[in-house]
Amino acid sequence: MAKSMKEHRQALLGLRQRYSRLAGDYQTDVEDNANADQGINDSSPGNSDNEIADAATGTYMQEFALTMRMRYRDRVTAVDEALTRVDQGTYGRCAVCDKPISETRLDLMPETPYCALHAATAQAIDAPTDVTRRSWPGPSTAA
Ligand SMILES: [Zn+2]
Repeated sequence: MAKSMKEHRQALLGLRQRYSRLAGDYQTDVEDNANADQGINDSSPGNSDNEIADAATGTYMQEFALTMRMRYRDRVTAVDEALTRVDQGTYGRCAVCDKPISETRLDLMPETPYCALHAATAQAIDAPTDVTRRSWPGPSTAA
């Protein structure tokens, strides 16, 4: 049975909260790593090999945290757009072909603006890193 717009809105609001929190978690990580880098710069020259390795790990972690934060913020934006579509009554329809998006697909990716066919096209253009996209926690794995 199809969900009502109210149920869709509830699902989207829950998802938005979740993505916001995840983006916030990575924000904290970025700050922690920035502090750690500061510590490395302040320390007296000791075992330089380890310091270089630590700095490299710190930079890598910081970049990773920044990337993840950006991705979750993108998700929050996507959820906001989906909420706008709920308000406009266009939610659940493909942004390209205007055909209904399947309930199964909306359950898995409530914020998607595309049907399965056009998501493949849109992702090919927007997101060449589709593999990473699949590893993102979806709403079905909510704790
Ligand atoms: Zn479509």
